[in-house]
Amino acid sequence: MTRTDNDTWDLASSVGATATMVAAARALATNAEQPLIDDPYADPLVRAVGVDFFTRLVTGELGLEDLDDDTVGMQRMTDNMAVRTKFFDEFFSDATRAGVQQAVILASGLDSRAYRLAWPTGVVVYEIDQPDVIAFKSAALSELGAEPTAERRAVAVDLRFDWPAALIDAGFDPGRPSAWSAEGLLGYLPPDAQDRLLDTITELSAPGSWIAVESVPHIDPERQEQAAERMREASQRWREHGFDLDFTELIYLGDRNEAAAYLEERGWRLTRRSVRDLLVANGLPPMDDEDAADFGELQYVSGILSA
Ligand code: SAM
Repeated sequence: MTRTDNDTWDLASSVGATATMVAAARALATNAEQPLIDDPYADPLVRAVGVDFFTRLVTGELGLEDLDDDTVGMQRMTDNMAVRTKFFDEFFSDATRAGVQQAVILASGLDSRAYRLAWPTGVVVYEIDQPDVIAFKSAALSELGAEPTAERRAVAVDLRFDWPAALIDAGFDPGRPSAWSAEGLLGYLPPDAQDRLLDTITELSAPGSWIAVESVPHIDPERQEQAAERMREASQRWREHGFDLDFTELIYLGDRNEAAAYLEERGWRLTRRSVRDLLVANGLPPMDDEDAADFGELQYVSGILSA
């Protein structure tokens, strides 16, 4: 399923299915013996989407040992999602405790932060994703009886098009500081759309705004092809268990600007943490060399726009 410039999806197809995949990983991480995160909505949301493969994964009918071999493993993905979720949770807690009152979750997928974080009074959380994704999650959480813990405003729009107009229509004020997250998003945008997105965030950010993104340092083409091959092997293994999606067809491989450096050039002061370090810092199993070649240099980056 090759990407096109204006393709769309729901939570069971194409890029949307990756939101269900990472929610399944959050459900598994939440149910771990010594959980690093607590996302009580991940499990019921995955079940509500109803992709049999992910449902069986969260119910335990399909074990991690059935999926993991020496390819990109689901246990590794679960650990990565645990540290990633904790990183972005702490980012929003820190930003809003520091007084920022507008949070913008780009590509919110099945993210339930608007329902599970202890937001200070007065914070408005904007969630942006494709229309079918937004509609499904809003309805599913309402059916589960979940109540937002902040004022939640869902903005159903594609991030390759005129999303700032939709965000401002929903009440966002570019004159006041904001906190932005792009978690699990940039690789699904073509390189020029990533640059445009980061430019637009910067334009919409008053001094003192906060940002958190994932950033991939430049990887040489040979190593990128090896990582893509391991992803294809993992897709093949998942296909044997009834789920047919080739992740390498969903992301835009090839050269792109490193998000952190690009933002720094535009006035953001950033701190970087590699996934490899975060796993160790959080007491999770360290990466072996092969994992490290795929994920180890991936960084979670956060910081503030200089005045
Ligand atoms: N941030 C969420 C999380 O970490 O759970 C979801 C991550 S999921 C891997 C990727 C998400 O990006 C999906 O929800 C998908 O719909 C969204 N996405 C990707 N490209 C997008 C675009 N052009 N416009 C809106 N949403 C997009």
